[in-house]
Amino acid sequence: MQRPIFLLVSDDGPRLAALRDDLSRRYEADYQVTTAASAAAALTMLAVHAGSGAEVALIIADEHLKDMTAADFLARAHGLHPGAKRILLIDRGQWAAPHPVIAAMAVGKIDYHLWVPWFPLERNLYPPVSEFLAAWDKTREPAHVAFRIVGPAHSSRAHRLREDLTRAGVPYRYVGDGSEEGRQLLREHHLDGMPLPVVLARDDSVLVNPSHEDLMAKLGFRSDPDLRTCDVTIVGAGPAGLAAAVYAASEGLSTVVLEPEVPGGQAGTSSLIRNYLGFPRGLPGDELTARALDQAWLFGTNLTTAPAKGLTVRDGRRLVHASGGEIDSRTVVIATGVSWRRLALPGLDKLVGAGVFYGAASAEARAMAGQDVYVIGAGNSAGQAAIHLARYAATVTIVVRGPDLSATMSSYLVTEISKTGNICVRLATEVTGVRGQCSLETLTLRDRGGGATRTVPAAGLFVMIGAEPRTGWLPASIGRDDEGFILTGRDLQRTGERPADWPLERPPLLLETSIPGVFAAGDVRHRSIKRVASAVGEGATAIQLVHEYLRTEQD
Ligand SMILES: Cc1cc2nc3c(=O)[nH]c(=O)nc-3n(C[C@H](O)[C@H](O)[C@H](O)COP(=O)(O)OP(=O)(O)OC[C@H]3O[C@@H](n4cnc5c(N)ncnc54)[C@H](O)[C@@H]3O)c2cc1C
Repeated sequence: MQRPIFLLVSDDGPRLAALRDDLSRRYEADYQVTTAASAAAALTMLAVHAGSGAEVALIIADEHLKDMTAADFLARAHGLHPGAKRILLIDRGQWAAPHPVIAAMAVGKIDYHLWVPWFPLERNLYPPVSEFLAAWDKTREPAHVAFRIVGPAHSSRAHRLREDLTRAGVPYRYVGDGSEEGRQLLREHHLDGMPLPVVLARDDSVLVNPSHEDLMAKLGFRSDPDLRTCDVTIVGAGPAGLAAAVYAASEGLSTVVLEPEVPGGQAGTSSLIRNYLGFPRGLPGDELTARALDQAWLFGTNLTTAPAKGLTVRDGRRLVHASGGEIDSRTVVIATGVSWRRLALPGLDKLVGAGVFYGAASAEARAMAGQDVYVIGAGNSAGQAAIHLARYAATVTIVVRGPDLSATMSSYLVTEISKTGNICVRLATEVTGVRGQCSLETLTLRDRGGGATRTVPAAGLFVMIGAEPRTGWLPASIGRDDEGFILTGRDLQRTGERPADWPLERPPLLLETSIPGVFAAGDVRHRSIKRVASAVGEGATAIQLVHEYLRTEQD
């Protein structure tokens, strides 16, 4: 098989040769490292590769091209090889001027940059290039998979399994049960007539129509807590809960984390987080949260795959009720975040997982190749989802109830959307109907100004219309605002009074709820910032306050 291609483009002969040699030494076994001495020559080569079906992985262009601006060259290269990662080579020490790389990255004309000089190689060239390759590789069908799911194309069960495996970062392949390969796999494993979907693991084990819990167990997550008594129970393993777990466990507290899903929370579903400190090229949300999970585990956190179902206080102890039993805990950190608000339309619920998705753009994007898809929502999550889906779908339409996007979406996303040819934004519009037999087929759109309606074909509808706090499991004694978000610290004393039933002399600590020793962090908290960095900051702060609480408890 032909090796995927790196194409390096520069008019500067010695620079081009040096980069080719440095990259060849490391990557030549798996990739062909090729060069072009001008943008025009590079475009001709790319057209030939596109015609022959050759795979181009990386295009690295010098910022000083004579025959075309590098950003324009990379934009045209993208037309020929939409999957290739585009990298601009720029000279160091250009902090002052508004560099073209900034604008080009904001409108999605380039993906990354590399600094010149790129020495030492082991620090400044190979790690970033391997990162670009990892991002490129993620957009392809994996060559080796840990699991194959065989089942009907449109089934909410299969969707759930795909979502779990995507979030866990486990390579898998989905095979339709009606395809030749699907029928053969079922035959080979003596599964004809069995309930579908089935999951075939690399170790030859088979899960027949597994539940979410069965798959989680297969992935190594445990549903019974190892510890029944601990210093702190953290409920939820999104960024806030994972940060709390890392700090609690690393500072010697016995720590249990309860989380029914693949850990990562909302951040784990983000295709690219660009505003997290220290990652100038951005990083996929599942990678960030997988690293955090590793870190929490290495410090000795006990992770239990189960939801918290209740919380009571008895004899000065906090009892967290989980499916596997009670956890007797000195303190609790609630980090249950938010979930997507549901869209109330007749017939929609039966299509969830069969063309209609809440979030889930990462798991389903590849399945949308060549199709017309719709995203409802005007926030950053909707914007990111649309951009990610546009890499695969024929068209992506963002449906927005309001008159413009800029009030609710970051400007870098609005700009990127306006420059992405296959994304269209329909303002002042709402979805008023969905139809489909086995899967979504059409949507009805209504113009909120004139009231005109029209029905359009649609293979996917991604609903991202705001969020609700996940606080339904909590007792009434945890004070909340009108929308259900948890009140903490000074917000509990808006009238200047302590909360009713507050038993202590001191006022509630910064992130403390109306029950002493129970803290809240992240999106679930009243007036939280709703960003990964703030959730992480609050998770860490909550543990500082746990220490303070435990100290005063001992006094
Ligand atoms: C698609 C998308 C893209 C985003 N992109 C960005 C971005 O680029 N930059 C940025 O700063 N922010 C981004 N955000 C926002 C960011 O992800 C959130 O602000 C952040 O994840 C909040 O973290 P959290 O830990 O408070 O809550 P969450 O991430 O919501 O995690 C809460 C966790 O609690 C679990 N849970 C819920 N109920 C229970 C229960 N009863 N028992 C046990 N566990 C429970 C949930 O399963 C979940 O894992 C994005 C959000 C989305 C959805």
